Amino acid sequence: MGPRFVARIPTLAQFAFLAAALALPLFVGADSYALFVVTQLGIYILAAIGLNLLSGYAGQVSLGHAAFIAIGAYSVALLTVDRHWPFWAAAVVGMALSAGLGIVAALPSFRLNTWYFAFITLAFALVFEKMIVEWRWLTKGFAGVVGVPAPSLFGHDFGPRALYYLVAASALAGFLLVRNIVRSRFGRAFVAVRDVEPAALAVGASPQRVKLLAFVIAAAFAGAAGAFFAVQKTVVTPDDFTADFSIFFLLTIVLGGLGTLWGPVVGALVFFLIPELLAGLASWRMLIYGCLLLALMLFAPHGLVGAMRQGWRRIARRSPAAPMAAREVSHPPIAGLSLEIAGLRKRFGGVLALDGVDFTAPAGACCAIVGPNGSGKTTLLNLASGYYPADAGTVKIGGAETRGLAAQRIAARGVGRTFQTPRLVNELTAVENVMLGAYRRERSGFIATALRLPSARAEAKRLRAEALAYLAFVGVADRADLEAGEAPHGQQRLIEIARAMMGGARLILLDEPAAGLSMSELERLEQLIVRIRDLGATIVIVEHHLDLVANIAGHVMVLDRGVVLASGAPADVFRNEAVMRAYMGERALKGGAPA
Ligand code: ADP
Ligand code: MG
Repeated sequence: MGPRFVARIPTLAQFAFLAAALALPLFVGADSYALFVVTQLGIYILAAIGLNLLSGYAGQVSLGHAAFIAIGAYSVALLTVDRHWPFWAAAVVGMALSAGLGIVAALPSFRLNTWYFAFITLAFALVFEKMIVEWRWLTKGFAGVVGVPAPSLFGHDFGPRALYYLVAASALAGFLLVRNIVRSRFGRAFVAVRDVEPAALAVGASPQRVKLLAFVIAAAFAGAAGAFFAVQKTVVTPDDFTADFSIFFLLTIVLGGLGTLWGPVVGALVFFLIPELLAGLASWRMLIYGCLLLALMLFAPHGLVGAMRQGWRRIARRSPAAPMAAREVSHPPIAGLSLEIAGLRKRFGGVLALDGVDFTAPAGACCAIVGPNGSGKTTLLNLASGYYPADAGTVKIGGAETRGLAAQRIAARGVGRTFQTPRLVNELTAVENVMLGAYRRERSGFIATALRLPSARAEAKRLRAEALAYLAFVGVADRADLEAGEAPHGQQRLIEIARAMMGGARLILLDEPAAGLSMSELERLEQLIVRIRDLGATIVIVEHHLDLVANIAGHVMVLDRGVVLASGAPADVFRNEAVMRAYMGERALKGGAPA
């Protein structure tokens, strides 16, 4: 087997799976149990794909997914049986109602952490189950709705085979939609909100909107699955939508691999077919599931798909593709934004982190903030970029007050930042992290992205080229296609600078960018900051390397325990030996103060 053939095996496997799915009905009887089972499998896959987007990619663990499916199923059952609506119209209504419930379900997720939220959804699922029974006037209680007719098109009713193909085509369409979404700015934002909310804020993505989008998509998918569920079973009863059913879906995607494209497919296949194959072992089912899950958690935390991928990498030993040669382009000038801070105060419990600080960085200047650990430097950056509200004082950016603006709004005004501990989305590659920076600049809408229309594709290509150029600009182009989390911290901060520039930042806040850099990297960083400054951006840098500060900053402020100790040109401030000895320690005196 040549390496090129080996490299194609995953693609071939996908095609083989598709071909098998297409050909299957030709080998089993139209009224066979096998066809019934695989149709049901397709329906479950559709629901699992949506849930994976929500729980896997966006990180919102929902234990109430059955409710969304129930809404689709009851909508179709009631509208087709009682009102004689055509299936298609009823299914659209079911999806819309389910999506509407998705919006409601998203609201508590804005305030609660993942696990509290999961409990809420579980409680909701239990209540919902009871509600279906109690609302007899609507749902017919325990008896359920019976005699749901098959969908029909141009007067022809769908037989079991046609229904299978309809479900399979929908599941495939769902898979492709989710694939397109996941690889777009929306997908990058999902993962950012899941793993590193500060990064999402830094690129101007609103976590609330991102979660809302994930909920609506997942709920619409569940609604569609419910619609098929009703016509396939022809009977819809409350027993179909118990909390067990919700948990089944969650287990499915965990087993298959959370946040992997094939996870829900593989998970549903295994979870659904094993009991069918092991019909004789029915009473052992829960035990088998339990052992399976335990083994997976221990040995394959990324589920079956994650384990397969890892094994595959070992076999194929694919070295990452050589990164595209990034062109070093001449960058257009940047119109820097001024930062004016007056009387800024912030208290954390008993600690007065900032006690009436004034600080100004004129547009296009490079200003530094120095001071011992705990003196409030990071807090100042956090307040300036809206990560915390100030207790008192004002922050003006580009002359406009920012009071009350959320961090993502401030980012959208042109404020980019890096973090003392790098906040990259580790699972995304370096170039994807930089592309995330363009979140607010991307013009392609959700529909164009999900359908991969030519306009969206062209924009994605253009942005990737731009992101590569920014990686080259900061000097880490060779990392472009490697996972960001694997880069040394120093490089991660450089990637953060590229991300900020990709977002069109005009005021850039750098929190100790030189920490952990080697001497040669330090020199490169210095050149980089000077280049960005010379383009016109305003830079505020918190830094312990006083040489670096003296070389690049026109102005430096010394903070100590939340108050300004000295402020002025670096040469003057650093010559003030009393200040240096008392507050910067001997190390700074020996190594840092320039002659
Ligand atoms: P620096 O960046 O200069 O080292 P910080 O701004 O990180 O200092 O911290 C200033 C003070 O505020 C420290 O005493 C720190 O413990 C406290 N502090 C900072 N952030 C928080 C927070 N989120 N919660 C509680 N205390 C905080
Ligand atoms: Mg700090």
